[in-house]
Amino acid sequence: MVKVKLLRYTRGGIGLIAGSARVSGIPPSLNSRKAVRMMVENDYGSVLEHVYFTFDISEMSIALSRELLEHRIASHTARSTRYHVEEGFGYVTPQPLKRSRRLTKLFRQAVSQARENYSRLYRAMLEEGYSEEEAREAARYLLPMAAHTHYVWTINARSLINFLSLRLCVRASPEMRELATKIYRLVVKIYPEIFEGIGCRGYTLGLCPENENRPPSCPYLHRIPSKVEVKAGRGRLKPPASL
Ligand SMILES: Cc1cc2nc3c(=O)[nH]c(=O)nc-3n(C[C@H](O)[C@H](O)[C@H](O)COP(=O)(O)OP(=O)(O)OC[C@H]3O[C@@H](n4cnc5c(N)ncnc54)[C@H](O)[C@@H]3O)c2cc1C
Repeated sequence: MVKVKLLRYTRGGIGLIAGSARVSGIPPSLNSRKAVRMMVENDYGSVLEHVYFTFDISEMSIALSRELLEHRIASHTARSTRYHVEEGFGYVTPQPLKRSRRLTKLFRQAVSQARENYSRLYRAMLEEGYSEEEAREAARYLLPMAAHTHYVWTINARSLINFLSLRLCVRASPEMRELATKIYRLVVKIYPEIFEGIGCRGYTLGLCPENENRPPSCPYLHRIPSKVEVKAGRGRLKPPASL
């Protein structure tokens, strides 16, 4: 199970966001909490970029770290498999396999085999006079995507909303959804004004851009319309006259 710790975050974030919004020109009568909720709801996102969160993410698979890296508006630091010996690495068992003892065992055996292959190559290289560095660099090519890695991840509130909206969706991979859920629970406690209205994209936006790809497991399938349904429902619109 992926582990997530919040290492650091911007304190006084609500005042900072509201203050930035006031510089931009929102009415001074609006209190800070209301101002922040309005910024989030109306998607006036740039003021949210002043607030940062740094997470320590451990016991995550290399597969998950690759997906996380797709979120470019964030800062990523991963444990290097070039500088660490990964003998006896920990690993993630894909959640659906846990329904079957037989398949969990099969998976465990495959990972054991990968561990052995890693160690065998690493040690054989040392025996043949290769340097530690060369041995680590070559042996890491035998690591499976299930192997654990460790991450420090910094992201601003605007980008985090984008991340959560994409990755709390039932279409995200189970390990990613688990990570997104754990991150959501940490940040909503600190800044409910920013995150209370955030969920999967359908929940966040009030319409789901996944359209025909929504699976039966989507909890909002019959409660939140898809984007194409909304467009179809309002009839065909002409482009603005100015175009
Ligand atoms: C269910 C699901 C399935 C997916 N499947 C695949 C897949 O099969 N293959 C795959 O490669 N990825 C896949 N992805 C990853 C997805 O395509 C995005 O790369 C990932 O979710 C990061 O989102 P992002 O670009 O919005 O985030 P960020 O990279 O953090 O970007 C944030 C926002 O900045 C803007 N932005 C960033 N970079 C640019 C740019 N170069 N040009 C213009 N605007 C930019 C965009 O508005 C973007 O939304 C999947 C994601 C999900 C949720």
